[in-house]
Amino acid sequence: MTKFIPSNIPRANDSAPAESHPVPCWISFGGNVGDVHATFDAALKLLGGQSQLQLGRRSGIYRTVPMGAQAGQSFLNSVCELITSLSPHVLLSVLQSVENQLGRIRDVRWGPRTLDLDLLNYGQQIIDEPDLVVPHPALTYRRFVLDPLVEVDAHWLHPACSLSAAELLGRLEHRPLRVALVDVPRSQVEQLTRPLALKFPDLQWIDDSPQSAEVLPIQLNSSSSFSRRAVVDLRRSPGDPLEQLTAAFTSIFDRPQRISAW
Ligand code: ATP
Ligand code: CA
Ligand code: CA
Repeated sequence: MTKFIPSNIPRANDSAPAESHPVPCWISFGGNVGDVHATFDAALKLLGGQSQLQLGRRSGIYRTVPMGAQAGQSFLNSVCELITSLSPHVLLSVLQSVENQLGRIRDVRWGPRTLDLDLLNYGQQIIDEPDLVVPHPALTYRRFVLDPLVEVDAHWLHPACSLSAAELLGRLEHRPLRVALVDVPRSQVEQLTRPLALKFPDLQWIDDSPQSAEVLPIQLNSSSSFSRRAVVDLRRSPGDPLEQLTAAFTSIFDRPQRISAW
């Protein structure tokens, strides 16, 4: 059992005004160090004891492939709904405090961790700041987020692109998966696609601008993360372009296994 440390979670303060109405949010849970299921339980207990924050629906627990070269062994993932009148930034600081109390060490980006809590959405709000981006930019391509979210709220609507969780997941399941790199010069595309084709044989690269809804657009550099067409935005992913794409396709081609209820 994970050691339970008394809570010193920040309270809705002082520095950020509280929202006047409770807002529904989804949080993703992930971890691959220690007794992860017990850590999820401890996190839930800490969150449930927080004022201005109510626990809502939650998915089962899924086993998923690690994403990125440094990530370590397989992960457990889940999602939980929170209804809160905390502001987005205070909520983020609460999530980070819970991570810290449950042994999260931040050294390697996308490294092994006891607990990772990401804010997937904050109601319908769109926030694009250095320390907080919501909706979470990676949820559009992460099976380890979308599979659990579809289990509990398939109709959840992405506030920016208006695709539901089920639609976002569905477009990752096409085989072959038709993808286009929207902001990489054509001269560089082949250097990237050749090694990826060996590792991910179900990929089909589309050269021209992806007008069709059947093509998954991927961007590596640009900042238009909230396009209506739900671009796969790898701007904040660590590593070089090949590493960024390898990590994204690892998650897209994963088949998360639901291993238990939560
Ligand atoms: P990723 O965000 O790609 O899943 P990660 O969860 O491993 O990566 P962390 O090291 O946990 O990344 O967090 C890095 C920073 O991301 C945090 O310091 C936080 O300020 C920022 N961040 C931006 N948007 C969010 C969000 N929606 N939820 C959680 N953290 C966020
Ligand atoms: Ca994360
Ligand atoms: Ca995180």
